[in-house]
Amino acid sequence: MPRRTRRTAVPTPMGDSTRCVHAGARPPGSTALSPPIYQTATFRLPSVAAGARYSDSVAPGELYTRWGNPTLKRLESALSELEGGEAAIVTSSGMAAATVAILTGLKEGDHVVGGRAAYAGVLEIEMELLPRFGIEATLVENADVESFRRALRPNTKLILVETPANPTLAVTDLAGVVKLAQRYRIRTTADNTFATPINQRPLSLGIDSVFHSMTKALAGHSDVSAGAVVGSEAFIRRAWHTLKLLGPVLNPFDGWLVLRGLRTLSLRVRRQNENAMAIARFLSKHPGVSRVHYPGLPSHAGHRVARRQMSGFGGLLSFELKGGLKAGTRLVESVKLVTLAVSLGGVETLIQHPASMTHTMIPKRDREEAGITDGQIRLSCGIEDARDLIADLDQALGKAARR
Ligand SMILES: *Cc1c(COP(=O)(O)O)cnc(C)c1O
Repeated sequence: MPRRTRRTAVPTPMGDSTRCVHAGARPPGSTALSPPIYQTATFRLPSVAAGARYSDSVAPGELYTRWGNPTLKRLESALSELEGGEAAIVTSSGMAAATVAILTGLKEGDHVVGGRAAYAGVLEIEMELLPRFGIEATLVENADVESFRRALRPNTKLILVETPANPTLAVTDLAGVVKLAQRYRIRTTADNTFATPINQRPLSLGIDSVFHSMTKALAGHSDVSAGAVVGSEAFIRRAWHTLKLLGPVLNPFDGWLVLRGLRTLSLRVRRQNENAMAIARFLSKHPGVSRVHYPGLPSHAGHRVARRQMSGFGGLLSFELKGGLKAGTRLVESVKLVTLAVSLGGVETLIQHPASMTHTMIPKRDREEAGITDGQIRLSCGIEDARDLIADLDQALGKAARR
């Protein structure tokens, strides 16, 4: 990280790496260093009174796993520590977390404002799922807080932000959105999947809740599907109720895997930040590349805001090839070390070409309006050595440029 970058995350007595290693207190009396996996659907109760007491409390740890589970509770307390929240709940996927975070507190007749650039599944919740239940959503320019303000209606109950966001890594000014939302008493939620709590803590800037696809950097090894919502005690109490009814609970073993992944989160994210910066600089100078989108580059439109609200710029970047669609396809099929796959945030570097893969069904003009050009490539940097990644991209770019 450049030394001049200001940290806005909540100052804590301990560093990020220490907190990742130790987050999620060991229960009193437990001597096992690694958390036990409570691979059970239900728990023996000492009395009927205990059953009555449990069914009356929020997320009881030992009643029924859809309600709560000690392994998951360890993970939940670790997550709320890392994000600086009061409480957290974990879910079976990032989409489950998004659904719970969005639906909690909304009812028929409400209105939602969200950034136009966001995870495709989250956009579908806003534009397809919510309207079926009488809730409308308006999508606005991510980088322009004024466009959020213009979209507000008297019945707006939620502002949803993702920053940095797919596909151009557009940055939203979190403090600006919070100021706006507080003036009109509107709830805010942020998808913090790209940034992770190592690079950005939206709660410390006044955002009400954050959600995550823990499938990505938090678990970090591309071997588990999981999600989380973090916020105030009061909000998580309501979100827990939504989760308990919808039912997408995380299984205890996957929860354990995420907890293990979290121990190295800070190390991994720092390396990903460094790799992304090195690769962004390399690509910026490459003759076959017309544009590089990375918030860490001074040329990125969101650089100034990112420097204010992030302590690292993340492992995700996208870039555009001069050779368009054909070059894009050739590039992603020519890499050897880098892997052609969707997803992000894992230890291995992944590459994808939206125009020929995830967005082929969308007409070119609509695609371009959403910022996805024919020659655009998305890269999720892993923790390999930057020079090996650069060498691989260099040889693949050479092949992509050939007619
Ligand atoms: C992957 C992702 C999601 C969805 O998470 P799943 O774990 O795949 O359900 C939501 N938001 C962002 C930013 C993502 O990258």
